[in-house]
Amino acid sequence: MKLKVAPHISTLIPYPPGKPIEELEREYGISGSIKLASNENAWGPSPRAVCAIKDALKNLHRYPDGSCYYLAQSLADKIGVKPEEIVFGNGSNEIIGLLITAFLQPGEEVISSHPTFLMYQKLVQVQGGVNKVVELSESMQHDLKSILDTVSPKTRMIFLDNPNNPTGTIIDRDDFASFMEQLQDDIIVVLDEAYVDFVAPELRIDALSYTRSSKPVAALRTFSKAYGLSGLRLGYGIMDIEMAGYLNRVRQPFNVNSLAQVGGVAALADDEHYQMTLEKSREGTAWLSREVEKLGCRPMETHTNFFLIDVKGDGRKLYEHMLHKGVIVRHMQAYGYPNFIRITVGRQDENKRFVGALASSLKELGYG
Ligand SMILES: *Cc1c(COP(=O)(O)O)cnc(C)c1O
Repeated sequence: MKLKVAPHISTLIPYPPGKPIEELEREYGISGSIKLASNENAWGPSPRAVCAIKDALKNLHRYPDGSCYYLAQSLADKIGVKPEEIVFGNGSNEIIGLLITAFLQPGEEVISSHPTFLMYQKLVQVQGGVNKVVELSESMQHDLKSILDTVSPKTRMIFLDNPNNPTGTIIDRDDFASFMEQLQDDIIVVLDEAYVDFVAPELRIDALSYTRSSKPVAALRTFSKAYGLSGLRLGYGIMDIEMAGYLNRVRQPFNVNSLAQVGGVAALADDEHYQMTLEKSREGTAWLSREVEKLGCRPMETHTNFFLIDVKGDGRKLYEHMLHKGVIVRHMQAYGYPNFIRITVGRQDENKRFVGALASSLKELGYG
């Protein structure tokens, strides 16, 4: 085929196509495997969301509400902003893309960290933008000083996930304040708060005080993690009304499906499920860290529902070994941490299964 493909598209690397668990099980002749790889909510979706969705199924022949009216109202009330300051997306991933489409021209620069969430750099490339990548500091945190040093006249946006995926580290509040003070006021800062729910309230950056400042800041949040609705695809950005207006021009009219809208409203009202998730995730993190340490590995401190583990050997090999035992984790090769795996905190039965599989795998591979 004579396809003409722009170089910034032909050099894109496809998202690694993970197989469905059922396929893996068939291939490896195993059953009852567990997945602790995608930072999902191990305790399932909010039962109230499930109920609301069941009820909404009968209206699937209708297009969704293109303005997410009720969802925007509920969320605006809950977090204390105007509905017009919120843009919903098919996952917060879509909002990342919309910001880039709306505000980045080909050839302009975007700064992000390494390692960080892989979508930023990918979507910048899709747009024909230029990625400027700054290594995390030794403490695996965003290096705000180096990021400021990397700003050039071509810089249009800076992506910071707080906490950072895959390290689970956070940005110090005061450091962020000083960073924002030094940054010129025409560079868009995207504060991706996908895991903010898991951060102790006293350590959170007051994102809304920045989205309402004179500088262009967007805070991104999602229903995929603490709210347990990854499969529905629902996320949002909070930003200045003028900025939101541009995203609304760029986005597709029905970008958030009707089930996501009713599920989101119900999930927001289900504080019990939300609090239970945070509590169990905290307990699981503490238990897993202790057990992993007993096995001679080094668990990294985290502010999320996942954490990195230095396994003191090839993380990818360990990942593959554990796959055969039906325990799916994430190796960190693509992120530049060859000796690490990342695990998501699961239910206690899953956590125990993980620790058992880790113990036997370390022994069988001769790590430590
Ligand atoms: C999981 C995650 C998201 C959420 O993406 P959705 O599209 O809302 O599912 C966003 N940012 C980071 C850093 C994440 O890890």
